[in-house]
Amino acid sequence: MSTKKLLFDRVALIGAGLIGSSLGRAIRQEQLAKSVTAYSRRSDTRKRLSHLGIVDSVAESIEEAVDGADLIIISVPVGASEDVAVRIGPHIKPDAVVTDTGSVKESVIRAITPHIPNSANFVPGHPIAGTENSGPEAGFASLFEGRWCVITPTDDTSESAIDQVTNLWRRVGSKVDIMTPAHHDKVLAITSHIPHLIAFNIVGTVADLEGDTKMEVVKYAAGGFRDFTRIAASDPEMWRDVFMENREAVLEMLGRFSEDLSALQRAIRRGDANSLETKFTRTRDLRRRVIDAKQA
Ligand code: NAP
Repeated sequence: MSTKKLLFDRVALIGAGLIGSSLGRAIRQEQLAKSVTAYSRRSDTRKRLSHLGIVDSVAESIEEAVDGADLIIISVPVGASEDVAVRIGPHIKPDAVVTDTGSVKESVIRAITPHIPNSANFVPGHPIAGTENSGPEAGFASLFEGRWCVITPTDDTSESAIDQVTNLWRRVGSKVDIMTPAHHDKVLAITSHIPHLIAFNIVGTVADLEGDTKMEVVKYAAGGFRDFTRIAASDPEMWRDVFMENREAVLEMLGRFSEDLSALQRAIRRGDANSLETKFTRTRDLRRRVIDAKQA
């Protein structure tokens, strides 16, 4: 006999690309809600969603999607959060829980909170899971298994709403951490946003190279460049928004990164082999810790 327990009646996915559609798939697979409705901005995406058959229904308007939903999950590029919140605000049912998956938290909280009615609850969240692919076809139900999801409650978020969203993430296989939005934005600046910036930069440098050198870089990509090309293939709109919305934390961490890079540059120029070896030994240790923590 199934021991699965429903967490929600009606879930509305606002935005159903990689993250929204993965969550929709996982919610249905784990039978966490009676029904899942999805809405996506473009009619082409809505058609593809219907065709994929991964949700119970695809709404033709954002209002129709949130109507009667007791859980609303916003998974759009962070810069679109306010626009979405303005549109759904008047249609959110009392006591509904609204959550999001945005990669930046302080600015998203500022954008969404004023539009959530007092009778409802906003629980900001961010799954630390993803791929370089986007769109509903890229999603899969096991995306969140074994990954962390960070919840960054505001002063107004009720404990029971936090528990509901925590349960949701646990039931789709994630481990949950609670953090302040500011701390989240700093941690993610160095663990995710700057690594992406470095990838965009190094791949951009190669793209600007002329003629033969460029050909050889592509030919011998397996030497290390390949992993950067994968990261640099991530959705341009999503990442544009991340850097626009997490500007301060990114610039602060970028300052530290630049200092460390200058130190490496100096060591190479001076022929300081010991400094380089010490640094590379420390980084190798960190890699081992990532593997031990099953986050590789
Ligand atoms: P995605 O695959 O590109 O899907 C984006 C969704 O948002 C689509 O449904 C798209 O609709 C909609 N959308 C795009 N621009 C919009 C706008 N201006 N207004 C309203 N809707 C818009 O993106 P994703 O990877 O799922 O990312 C969704 C959110 O999750 C982002 O906030 C991102 O920061 C966060 N996140 C991403 C990752 C990752 O690795 N990708 C990981 C964790 C968190 P149409 O297709 O109809 O235009």
